[in-house]
Amino acid sequence: MLCCLAVVCFGSGPPDGSNATVIYHNAKIYTMDPEAPTASAIVIDGQGRIVFVGSDETAFVVRTNSTEVIDLGGRTVLPGLIDAHGHIAGQGSFELGVLELSAVADQNELVETVAAQTRELEPGEWVLGGRWDHESWPSGILPTHNDLSSVTPDNPVWLRRVDGHAGLANEAAMRLAGITRDTQSPAGGEILKDSNGEPTGVFVDRAMSLISRAVDTQSPSSKDLILAAQDHLLRVGLVGAHDAGIGPEEAEVFKSLAEDGRLKIRVAAMLSAAHAPAYLPDHEPYVSDRFVFRAVKYYMDGAMGSRGAWLLEPYSDRQTTSDGEPYTGLALGDPRELEELSRLAIAHGWQMRTHAIGDRGNREVLDAYERALNSAGKLDSDHRFAIEHAQMLHPDDIPRFAEMGVLPSMQPRHETTDMRWVEERIGRERAKGTYAWQSLLKTGAKIPAGSDFPVEPPNPFLGIYASVSRADESGEPNGGWQPQEKMTREQALRAFTLDAAYAAFQEDICGSLEPGKSADFIVIDRDVMTCEERDILETKVLRTVIRGETVFEAK
Ligand SMILES: [Zn+2]
Repeated sequence: MLCCLAVVCFGSGPPDGSNATVIYHNAKIYTMDPEAPTASAIVIDGQGRIVFVGSDETAFVVRTNSTEVIDLGGRTVLPGLIDAHGHIAGQGSFELGVLELSAVADQNELVETVAAQTRELEPGEWVLGGRWDHESWPSGILPTHNDLSSVTPDNPVWLRRVDGHAGLANEAAMRLAGITRDTQSPAGGEILKDSNGEPTGVFVDRAMSLISRAVDTQSPSSKDLILAAQDHLLRVGLVGAHDAGIGPEEAEVFKSLAEDGRLKIRVAAMLSAAHAPAYLPDHEPYVSDRFVFRAVKYYMDGAMGSRGAWLLEPYSDRQTTSDGEPYTGLALGDPRELEELSRLAIAHGWQMRTHAIGDRGNREVLDAYERALNSAGKLDSDHRFAIEHAQMLHPDDIPRFAEMGVLPSMQPRHETTDMRWVEERIGRERAKGTYAWQSLLKTGAKIPAGSDFPVEPPNPFLGIYASVSRADESGEPNGGWQPQEKMTREQALRAFTLDAAYAAFQEDICGSLEPGKSADFIVIDRDVMTCEERDILETKVLRTVIRGETVFEAK
């Protein structure tokens, strides 16, 4: 559409030269504009808007004495990438001192790493860590607190699992939190216990708050966390990130950073559902250039790694509960509550984005959205309700996304992390309906893509590689896991640009390089659309530009 406008207003060339503040040229530009998919030059005006995308020759027609001309030396340019699901302050906490445990090779190394950190601390000070993943250890079994407790007698320790849906506490932490063998698991959570009935130190989903609320440590301010994360995100080529769950106070921090001009990256944040009943009636959706706050985040279930995803049929590797009942995971949410919340969101012009991983969880969310949208007569409206993760879908539910206009907001790299144990959890047959990107795309669904940082690293090129290969970083399994669900490179780029922008109602501002849109783009050191598949992983970002301003440049 914008392209046609350009033709009408500008003829075959760029507009009046007085607007041409900067010309980037001699580049290999992928625009994501289907009318003109490649170009070599972009012309930007003083407001950071794109006024022309096309050939160098035509771009130079508008050059004046004051126009800055930047020769990109044949480098590749992409629309700025957008991560449709991450946790900005969570990422910031790793930038600012929380122990990063993704590289520990087994429980012994976990214990040693924490013990080394503890030696630097005074007795009583907390040790916080995250991103450990027992599924990547040779044993494959969940850790227990005993070895850890014996080397950290004087410091409480709380280490979250990579998916954020379980954590390991030591004895000192459990003592402070008042946990004993008699403590009952809360609804929607589990305190794991050994054969003697003693807590093992592992707390799943809702049970995690029993420990986390006892954590008493001077944590960095939200502002510092956001700014620390922003540096990382801009460096890896992200011009936008959707924050999957914040409270009203953090929203105020984002607003003030945006007003001060310190928030460079475009953030679209979701309000954690617990705040919604009080917040929505008094607050219109908030939409500014860098900060958008118009979605509510609800949790329907847990994660598959810790067997918290809510399934239609029992888990293959844990068929029954300790009481002999069929074990189908954890319903963290209540479908009726989600329906009510959705009605409230519709009434106040907000969007719903709900975490669902298991096939039952996904079906319940689709059903609840359908009831709420139908009763408001809004099923055909531009609601853009989303399901976050949408990892495991019953085949009957796959077409419902496109039919209802619900967005499956997915994280391609979760697939390559999880493929090691998915078949163990749910069996071969059901595994075919997991991370079903191509099946969803074929029905006409848009897939906003993300990483779920800090669960996975924020680097979007890891996600693009996972989307097109469905293989790990060493290329295994050869040809990819469930390869029929791979995306093409164009589909993957679209998922990390236009479709992620769409999920935040920003596709008219960013996501592609077209006249009239904001100049949000990145310059990279290789052509990711044609290079060897594995080379995508090594992509280096040379420059990140948002609204015409260079916000990151490689040294
Ligand atoms: Zn998340």
